[in-house]
Amino acid sequence: MKQISSKVFQISLGSVNVFVVEDDGLTLVDTGMKGSADKIFSAIKKAGRNPENIQRIILTHVHPDHSGSAAEIKRRLNIPVWAHGIDAELMEQGVGVRGATHLSPGIVNWLIFNLFIKRSDSAIEPVIVEKQLTDNEVLPIAGGTRILHTPGHSAGHVALLIEKEKVLISGDICANLFGLAISTVYEDIKLGIKSIGKVTNFMFDKAVFGHGNSLEKDADQKLKDFYNKLNSQ
Ligand SMILES: [Zn+2]
Ligand SMILES: [Zn+2]
Repeated sequence: MKQISSKVFQISLGSVNVFVVEDDGLTLVDTGMKGSADKIFSAIKKAGRNPENIQRIILTHVHPDHSGSAAEIKRRLNIPVWAHGIDAELMEQGVGVRGATHLSPGIVNWLIFNLFIKRSDSAIEPVIVEKQLTDNEVLPIAGGTRILHTPGHSAGHVALLIEKEKVLISGDICANLFGLAISTVYEDIKLGIKSIGKVTNFMFDKAVFGHGNSLEKDADQKLKDFYNKLNSQ
């Protein structure tokens, strides 16, 4: 696990990152593709923590690279899953991708889509969601974790602002593989860009992403500059 702040850790599973927020217990944010449970557990053990201490799973959105191992981890630990209601509906049906998703422009997105996304299974193992998250709700995790409903990439997408840590868990509002860039697919790219603007109304130092590298400093300003650039195009 890579330590992002005193209570936030990132586990890289190759093409996707998941996150651990440490408090009294651990909160796992996203779960990777199907079959990622062992990798996640061993990363947590390597960092001297006990995976049995995971108290809950929060899913940023339904896509199979984020919710793919939720059912398995839930089964092993008998813990609840929390997600926004709009995506929870699909999670419970085992549907990993909502009907209409659109490929973003650019060669990198074309490559990612054709090499990885097109071939991957859009179904997930159905998982029951115990708690439906709502916009602006503050969860009692790490002294206050604000839910930011950030639709566009997926209608039920949420970002998590861990306020005292000044860390934003961005999910797939955008990516940071070779610098900040729009995600490879969106259900509604205009709404997705609006959601990038929405998070910049909050203060945070660091930002982490489902795909790519963390921003370690002035992340709110960097995302704001990125948002302004998108809007001037
Ligand atoms: Zn996604
Ligand atoms: Zn993703």
